Amino acid sequence: MKITVVGTGYVGLVTGACFASTGNEVTCVDTDENKVAALTRGEIPIHEPGLDGLVTAAVANQKLKFTTSLAEALQHPQDCVFIAVGTPPGENGSADLSHVLAVAREIGKTLTYPTVVVDKSTVPVGTADAVRAALAEAMQDRGTLVEFSVVSNPEFLKEGAAIKDFMEPARVVVGTDSEKAAEVMKALYAPFTRSRERLILMNVRDAEMTKYAANAMLATRISFMNELAVLCDKLGVDVERVRAGMGSDPRIGNQFLYPGVGYGGSCFPKDVKALVKTGKDNGVTLGILEAVEERNNSQKHYIFNKIIKEFGSDLSGLTFSLWGLAFKAGTDDMREAPALTLIEDLLASGAKVKAYDPVALNTAQKACKEMGLALENITFVKSAKDALVGTTALIVITDWMEFRSPDFKVIAKALATPIIFDGRNMYSKPEVNLCGLRYVGVGR
Ligand code: NAD
Repeated sequence: MKITVVGTGYVGLVTGACFASTGNEVTCVDTDENKVAALTRGEIPIHEPGLDGLVTAAVANQKLKFTTSLAEALQHPQDCVFIAVGTPPGENGSADLSHVLAVAREIGKTLTYPTVVVDKSTVPVGTADAVRAALAEAMQDRGTLVEFSVVSNPEFLKEGAAIKDFMEPARVVVGTDSEKAAEVMKALYAPFTRSRERLILMNVRDAEMTKYAANAMLATRISFMNELAVLCDKLGVDVERVRAGMGSDPRIGNQFLYPGVGYGGSCFPKDVKALVKTGKDNGVTLGILEAVEERNNSQKHYIFNKIIKEFGSDLSGLTFSLWGLAFKAGTDDMREAPALTLIEDLLASGAKVKAYDPVALNTAQKACKEMGLALENITFVKSAKDALVGTTALIVITDWMEFRSPDFKVIAKALATPIIFDGRNMYSKPEVNLCGLRYVGVGR
């Protein structure tokens, strides 16, 4: 098939590369000239395991190309046009649809043949109708009307495992009222659903809601465990044992039950907010999700509160070693990363920070700059060991593999005050204590 993917971020680039890898001819479009230039030179602008090789191979096979011009991409008939642009939170918490609707208008200005327009961005219920209207209006303005369908096909990939999630999806949700469009989507996804049928067909609005429901549920599990962890801290209960005990119940399951520093990233925070706003707009208070968000906001300060309990609220003269900056392991994405809140708290109390992340140093530096943080008080270093030099205590914020089994004796020697604040509950307290370090976890 011939496919255009608009937006070459985490979702668009992975989508384009995966579809190209099964033999489709894919054009990826982005308005960011630097990004397109980098991709054209063979540079991948994001860290996503496996993506580099996939893109290089697809480009070499002439199955994947990049452009800044949507009109150029749509010049020859396309079977599908995917919209995979960002939907950041607007001022009032609702999803900002300006990019999605701009793309819809742009398609409407250019389209001269029937096609399927696929909404892959995470968008509130009713957006497909708005996309359809924007597209039709743009067509009307130029006096041309061609047949098109708007399909909702939300994406469920996880950053850090995006290729695997796309290639071996747990399910593919397709919302459409057009049989023809459904057949196109089935054919497109067939290579990824060969071992068993995974494509779930539904109405467009049902599909739009499904994405929010899934993310809201996962965020709820995390906030639920974070709240329990706070209580466990008070009661002298180890939340990790509780997690193992409850997660082994098949009705509950083990995933997304890990207490820690709060969820971040480009999805959970904005999607929970947007769903709460949709509720409000429709006279429904989503109290559970309001509490999920509130817990997450306070959880991002939880480790900091433990630090000032230990060192007092004036941290002047102290430097903290920070292991991990990305919002989770496997990605360089710093959007809404809990590390940013922690750094902001530490600097505001007079402390300095020495930080290391295996892949997110550049994106973290950029994010700190954008937040207006005093960069002279943050040193970004190139190894976990370097991050320990001349520091007071260690704070582990992202659960990268390389942090999972460190030499605690080396850490104990390097720190002025031998304490580890384990924001991900990765370590065994007795093992850490044996090496002469104090251990402070979340709910332990
Ligand atoms: P992103 O910010 O990484 O990428 C979006 C891209 O769209 C950017 O490169 C931007 O330049 C481009 N863009 C914006 N306006 C454009 C336009 N008019 N024409 C062409 N390109 C344009 O975003 P992302 O993380 O890939 O997310 C995209 C959507 O997918 C969002 O709605 C998000 O909620 C959803 N989603 C994201 C993930 C994830 O893990 N990142 C997972 C599932 C769903």
